[in-house]
Amino acid sequence: MREIVIISGKGGTGKTVLTACLASFSDNKVIADCDVDAANLYILLNNKILEKHDFYGGKKASIDKEKCINCGKCLALCKFNAIKVKKDNGVLEKIFIDEISCEGCGVCRWNCPVEAIKMEKSLSGELYISETKYGIFVHAKLGIAEENSGKLVSEIRKKAKEIAKGKNKNLIIIDGPPGIGCPVIASIGGVDIALIITEPTLSGLHDMKRTLQLTEHFKVKSMVIINKFDLNLEMAEEIEKYCEKEKIEVIGKISFDEKVIESVVKRVPFVEYIENETTEKIKSIWEKIEKEMKKKGGD
Ligand code: SF4
Ligand code: SF4
Repeated sequence: MREIVIISGKGGTGKTVLTACLASFSDNKVIADCDVDAANLYILLNNKILEKHDFYGGKKASIDKEKCINCGKCLALCKFNAIKVKKDNGVLEKIFIDEISCEGCGVCRWNCPVEAIKMEKSLSGELYISETKYGIFVHAKLGIAEENSGKLVSEIRKKAKEIAKGKNKNLIIIDGPPGIGCPVIASIGGVDIALIITEPTLSGLHDMKRTLQLTEHFKVKSMVIINKFDLNLEMAEEIEKYCEKEKIEVIGKISFDEKVIESVVKRVPFVEYIENETTEKIKSIWEKIEKEMKKKGGD
C-alpha cells in the first residue's frame, strides 16, 4: 500500500484543491484529510457521513467534591492556572478545574493529600468516515481549544489504513496540515511521497525550505509543485534553482487560474469543473506521481 501526503509550509497555497483533483484521478484508494485544525476537503468531495467516532485525545483533572478538604495545595501547584477558586467573604469555598486550561499533567493528582483528584479521558474531537464519489474518505474535527492534533492525525491515518486494508485499496491520499509542527510530523512519517505545494514568494521559498528539512529528516521522498508560478516568474525561477541544487524534482508549475475559485464555490474538484490548460497541468502532475510510485514498485 502506498501513501501520498500533500503539504505546504503555510495554509492557502492550494493544497486542498490539488488533493481533491488527485483524488478524482486515482482509482482504488482511500482519501484522508489530516488538516484537523481546518478540515475542508469534505466540501470539495461532497461527502456523505457513514460513521462518527468520538476522539479522546488526552486526560483532564477532575475534583471529587465529597473528598476535597479545600486545602489549596493543588491550586498552588498548577502551573497552567487551571485550578480556580470561588471565595465567599474571603473564605476559600470551592475549588474547581477549568477544563479548557487543564493540560492533563497530573501534578495536582499526585499531590492531593486526600486523593480527591482523578484524571479522566476528555473528548477532544470527532472522527468521521464518509463515502464520496471518489472513494472512502476519513476526516475529523478537533474541539475548540483542543491541542491533540498530532494524535488525531495519527488516528485518521490509522483508520484510513484499516479501511484500505479491509477494502483491498492500494493507495491513501492525504491532505496534510500546513506548517512544520506536530500534526505535519504525524502526517508525513512513513509515507511514500510528500508533495510540497509552494507559491512564488519569499515566504513561500522560506516555508518550502523548512518543509524540505522536515521531509529530509524523516527520509520521505519529496516533490515540489509551484502554484500560481506566473504571479512572480523571478521568484518561481529561484525556487526551481534551489530545488535543482538540492536534487528535488519540481513536478509541476501551475499558473494562476481564476476558475479555481469558481470550482470551490461550486464544491467540485477543479479538474471536474473545467478542461483547460490548468487541468492538463494537474493531469501531468498526477502522471509523474504515478510514474514515481511505479519506480518504487511493490503493491
Ligand atoms: S489538593 Fe486535593 S484536597 Fe486540597 S484543594 Fe486540591 S483537590 Fe482539594
Ligand atoms: S492536571 Fe496539571 S494542568 Fe490540569 S489542573 Fe492538574 S496541575 Fe493543572
